[in-house]
Amino acid sequence: MKNFQWTEPQTIEQAIAWLAKANGKAVLMAGGTDLFTEMKEGVVEPDLVIDLKSIPGLASIQKDKDGVHIGALTTVASLAADAMIKLDYAGLSAAAGSLATPQLRNVGTVGGNLCQRPRCWYYRDAQMDCRKKGGSQCFAAKGRNKYHAIFGGGICHIVYPSDLAPMLVALDAQVTISSPRGERNLPLAEFYSLPAKNVRRENVLAPDELVREVKIPLAKKGTRSAYVKLKERETWDFALVSAAVRGTVSGGGLSDAAVVLGGVAPIPWRLGKTEASLKGKKLSQALVKEALRADLQEARPLEENGYKVELVEAAVTRALLSLTRPL
Ligand SMILES: Cc1cc2nc3c(=O)[nH]c(=O)nc-3n(C[C@H](O)[C@H](O)[C@H](O)COP(=O)(O)OP(=O)(O)OC[C@H]3O[C@@H](n4cnc5c(N)ncnc54)[C@H](O)[C@@H]3O)c2cc1C
Repeated sequence: MKNFQWTEPQTIEQAIAWLAKANGKAVLMAGGTDLFTEMKEGVVEPDLVIDLKSIPGLASIQKDKDGVHIGALTTVASLAADAMIKLDYAGLSAAAGSLATPQLRNVGTVGGNLCQRPRCWYYRDAQMDCRKKGGSQCFAAKGRNKYHAIFGGGICHIVYPSDLAPMLVALDAQVTISSPRGERNLPLAEFYSLPAKNVRRENVLAPDELVREVKIPLAKKGTRSAYVKLKERETWDFALVSAAVRGTVSGGGLSDAAVVLGGVAPIPWRLGKTEASLKGKKLSQALVKEALRADLQEARPLEENGYKVELVEAAVTRALLSLTRPL
């Protein structure tokens, strides 16, 4: 591993000032569960590591009239265990609980989860000069692509690996971003960007910006959420496909629905046509299959990952039907 400097800012302003001064040569560290893997593998070689854990007040879950505020340094374990989250946002609690192992959940944070880098084996191999690292090709396009994208790939076929991101997009979460220019809020759905926009990054953060918190709108009466994660094995693993759903249940159907996939695209992938087809109809396995048809026609599987199309149907069906089950 290349030598690097280390700093422990006491405020967000200090962290941002370090970021701005380093001019792209610094990285933020929260739990470090993803970042240190990248550094040990030589994929990332920063001059400076800025440890966010030294900043007080960024690890809390608070509810007020605007919604639920989740600080960037909240651990995944405390999100999964929070009683109010379990009650009002069961899907988010399930997504957090499904992630990695107890050890990783105790250390990994919400901010780090939303900003983690892809797990594509070509990207993670320091010897492979892939497009995401500034090279001229995506090796997954014609190489081993079992775990890669079936939607939105194009010039780079990574999938976004986060379990929290699709669920938080389905819940219409916003992120608050801090920089030397002040704070800005944007929908989490707009935080992520496709490779066609910037193949080197998965989100719209500028080099001198950090995520301070995530905010979820207050849960409406009758609104429920669920998360179904399909993995290759029972022990810890990333999702092959995951389905994050939210819906307001009324008379056996959904008066509104959000359906967002993980593990299938470089960003959390929203199924807008499916959502529209489900509205107001009585939920059944046949309805979900029919509702998915138009969105699934847009899938562009690679040689080894066509199986993901069937997994999408299974995950979305399971997640949606669970919303109407008695509590
Ligand atoms: C064995 C293993 C299994 C895993 N399984 C899963 C899984 O099933 N599901 C899943 O979603 N993830 C998984 N992960 C990935 C990762 O551990 C988690 O996503 C974790 O939540 C990352 O949080 P962290 O605080 O450790 O992030 P860090 O490693 O500290 O940071 C990750 C990235 O985010 C950036 N960052 C961190 N905080 C901020 C911030 N506030 N603002 C801007 N940028 C920031 C860092 O610079 C870095 O690039 C796994 C990791 C390992 C090693």
